[in-house]
Amino acid sequence: MQATTDFKLDSWVEIPANSDFPIYNLPLGIIKHKNGTISATTAIGQYVLDLSVLHRLAYFKEIALPVGIFEKTSLNDFMALGKPVWKLVRQRLMVLLTRDNPELRDNKDVVVQSLFKSSDVEMLMPVQVGDYTDFYSSKEHATNIGLMIRDPKNALLPNWLHLPVAYHGRASSIIVSGHDFHRPKGQVTPPGINEPSFSPSKAMDFELEMAFVIGKSTTLGQSVPTSKADDYIFGMTLFNDWSARDIQRWEYVPLGPFLAKNFASTISPWIISTEALEPFRIKAPEQNPEVLPYLERSREDCSFDITLEVWLQAENSEAMKICTSNYKYLYWTMDQQLAHHTINGCNINIGDLMASGTISGPTPDSFGSMMELTWNGSKPIILPNGQERKFLQDGDTVIIKGYCQKDNIRIGFGEAKAKVLPTL
Ligand code: CA
Repeated sequence: MQATTDFKLDSWVEIPANSDFPIYNLPLGIIKHKNGTISATTAIGQYVLDLSVLHRLAYFKEIALPVGIFEKTSLNDFMALGKPVWKLVRQRLMVLLTRDNPELRDNKDVVVQSLFKSSDVEMLMPVQVGDYTDFYSSKEHATNIGLMIRDPKNALLPNWLHLPVAYHGRASSIIVSGHDFHRPKGQVTPPGINEPSFSPSKAMDFELEMAFVIGKSTTLGQSVPTSKADDYIFGMTLFNDWSARDIQRWEYVPLGPFLAKNFASTISPWIISTEALEPFRIKAPEQNPEVLPYLERSREDCSFDITLEVWLQAENSEAMKICTSNYKYLYWTMDQQLAHHTINGCNINIGDLMASGTISGPTPDSFGSMMELTWNGSKPIILPNGQERKFLQDGDTVIIKGYCQKDNIRIGFGEAKAKVLPTL
């Protein structure tokens, strides 16, 4: 078996240049076939490979996998088998898809039964999310928001540099890419006003985020040290934490976001394993002041170089790239987030989702929300059709994309896409 960081492998499945899904990616997701059958799959080029078919036909016979493990409506039961099994399945898929291996390639009947065009299947939620936590780990984002809505002299609150700030979000309204949602309504206040009115939100925003999926549970009282965080992380997705700023402004004091954010959050359908991301490790920003010992990072290169893009498409207009950022800008890294989340003994469960917080970079074109990109509406974005946007209008579609790239190899995340529909 060749190392997964060796970029010399090729597949017998045709893979277009710059595809998100070369043989080194092998993300996992849940698909629904046209006949209604649901199964776990991986993506390869413009195809999906149905793991339930391969498992029934004994292609995984060397791995201890329960019968029907790939016929579930989520990956949760598969995740429960643990990291060594995740790795074995990934390695086996890589071997099966390698150009020189005839095992699957030359078994045309099985190829017909298991390999489908991505456009012929529907992507479902990949995991059943129990609890969802949203961090606030970008120093640039927290500073920008502090500058705009609080005190320019003290943009960061005193706790921010000492712990990864977070709140508990809502799991029930996490939707998979491609599912649109209605603009929320409620108590809103325009800037500078302290009397609410009732209205559809007039300040709909997106938040460019990534999320990691918990693949191993803990018991009450247990803490996960930064050095063990990797064992608990199944993989990563793109995430859009839709936000209604005018609802948020009025409601968030003193307990944080509630109805401004829990009406919808969009997740990308493919979970990219940390093994696939391994070649793209990178140093995270230096931390000053020094953190408490339980938050010390597990290793120097504990972040990932993942280019992130946000595209905005109005109805009857072309999509326009409005932001290019990178996961590597995050001040607090996944190992620190997980160590902090569990330091008090809070238990985590398989399928829990931990979102990063808005990922803004240092330059204005890398800001990860409309609020920052338009600087609270003072610098509108001009769309290709000539329209202006301060915040999102009905019919606007936001598409988040992400990828790691080295030489000609791209490990992509697909997309997290949804449209804002009018208030119900
Ligand atoms: Ca957020």
